[in-house]
Amino acid sequence: MNFADLGLSDELLQAVEAAGYREPTPIQAQAIPQVLMMKDLIAIAQTGTGKTASFVLPMIDILHHGRRRARMPRSLILEPTRELAMQVAENFEKYGKNHDLKMALLIGGVQMGDQVKALDEGVDVLIATPGRLMDLFERGKILLTGCELLVIDEADRMLDMGFIPDIEFICEKLPGNRQTLLFSATMPPPIKKLADRFLSNPKYIEVARPATANTNIAQHKVMTSSRNKREVLRHLLETDQVQTAIIFANRKTTVRELNKSLRRHGFRSGEIHGDMDQASRIAELERFKSGEINILVASDVAARGLDIKGVSHVFNFDTPWHPDDYVHRIGRTGRAGAKGRAFTLVTPEDAEAIANVEKLTGLQIPVFELGEGGAEADEPPSEKPRRGSRERKSDKPRRESSERAEEPRKRARRSEPRKEPGHEPEIEEADEPGDWNGPVPSFLSLSAL
Ligand code: ADP
Ligand code: MG
Repeated sequence: MNFADLGLSDELLQAVEAAGYREPTPIQAQAIPQVLMMKDLIAIAQTGTGKTASFVLPMIDILHHGRRRARMPRSLILEPTRELAMQVAENFEKYGKNHDLKMALLIGGVQMGDQVKALDEGVDVLIATPGRLMDLFERGKILLTGCELLVIDEADRMLDMGFIPDIEFICEKLPGNRQTLLFSATMPPPIKKLADRFLSNPKYIEVARPATANTNIAQHKVMTSSRNKREVLRHLLETDQVQTAIIFANRKTTVRELNKSLRRHGFRSGEIHGDMDQASRIAELERFKSGEINILVASDVAARGLDIKGVSHVFNFDTPWHPDDYVHRIGRTGRAGAKGRAFTLVTPEDAEAIANVEKLTGLQIPVFELGEGGAEADEPPSEKPRRGSRERKSDKPRRESSERAEEPRKRARRSEPRKEPGHEPEIEEADEPGDWNGPVPSFLSLSAL
C-alpha cells in the first residue's frame, strides 16, 4: 500500500515524501480514504500507530477547498493536553507546507492575545484543549457554527481527564451536519456513548485489539518493595543498556523527588508533570529531545501521547492505578517498528493493579530476575525466596522478611482477597462514583457498534 493509493493530492504526497514516510500505517491506510469521502469515523488503534496523520493529511486536502471567515473556524481538533495539541499543530505545519491554510492553537498556559487575533482574521484549523476553548466560547470570542469538521483525538484520555461534559457541550454548538472523527486507543463505555450520540452512521475501524500491548515491546515486571524501588530502578538504568528512558510515577510529588534523587546519583534526568507551566514543560521536553538529558521522569497526564522517537526504555516506577495507563505508558517505546523495553516495578501493594493490567492486556508479564550482585528484587509473599546475593546484604534481609511476613496479615485484616500469582483477582468497583477505573474490559465487546 502506498500513500499515492489513498486519494490524497499531489502537493500533499510531496509533503509526505519530504517528511520521510514511505508507506501508510494500517490505521492511515484505512482511515484516510474514509475521511476523504466525508464519512464520520471511529478509529481505534494503540498509541504510536500514526493516528495523527490519519486525520491531518485528509483534512489538509478537504480544507484546501473553501474560504476562511472571521471568528468562525472551519474545523476543530480537540486534544486532551497542550503537548498533544502542539504536536498536532507541528504536523499541520509539516504536511501543509504546500497549502495555504491558517491554523490557531488554543491551549492553556499560553498568551491568548495572538490566538484571538488569528481567530478574528479567520482560521481553517483550530486546535484546542477543551478547557481553553470553553473559556473563549463563553466570552463570545468564537463561533462554532461554521465548523464543518470535528476531530476528537485521544478520546479515552479525554475521559480520564474529565473532559466529556465539555466535549458534549462543544459538540452541541457545532452544525449538525458536520463530519466527526473520533480517535482513541481504547473504547471504554462512556466513549461509545459519546460516539452514539454525536457521530452519524460512523465507519468503524479498529487496528489490533484495544489495549493489546505492542509486540515490539519486551515487557517485564520486577518484584520489589517500596523502600527498594529507587535502588532497583538505578540498577536497571545502569545495566539494561538504557539509551533514553521515560520513567512514569503515579504522583507529581514522586516525579519531583525521584528526579532529584536520580540527579544526585549522577543520572542526566529531567522531569515533566502537570504542575509545571507550559514554558518549562516545553523546555524540558526540548532538553530530552536534544539529548541534553536522556531520562525523563513523568506523570501520566504530562506524558500522554508525547511523540518522542527512539525511547529505548519505559519504566513504571509505580504500577499504574488504571490499567489503560499501562498501555499508554509502554507505548512510548517500541514506536514505529523499533524495539523497546518496558519494566514495571511491582510491590506487594501493587498486586491488584498489576493483575488488572494483565487482565486488560491478556498477557502474563514475565518476572525479570535481577542479576547477582546488583540491586535486589523482592519476591511476592507467596513465592519461594530466590537464592542470591540478597541474604548477604547489610541490614535489608531482616526488614524485608518482616515486611513479607506482614503482608498477608495486613490483607487479612482488610479482608481483601488474597491473590496468588497467576490467579485473576476479583474486580472491584471504581472508588469514586462515575469515575471509570479501567479494569472492566466490557469495551472489548465492540459488536454493539
Ligand atoms: P498515535 O497518535 O497513534 O499515538 P502518532 O500519530 O503520534 O501516533 O505517530 C507515532 C509516530 O509514528 C510519530 O513519530 C510519527 O511521526 C510516526 N509515523 C506516523 N505515520 C508514519 C508512517 N506512515 N511511516 C513512518 N512513521 C510514521
Ligand atoms: Mg495520538
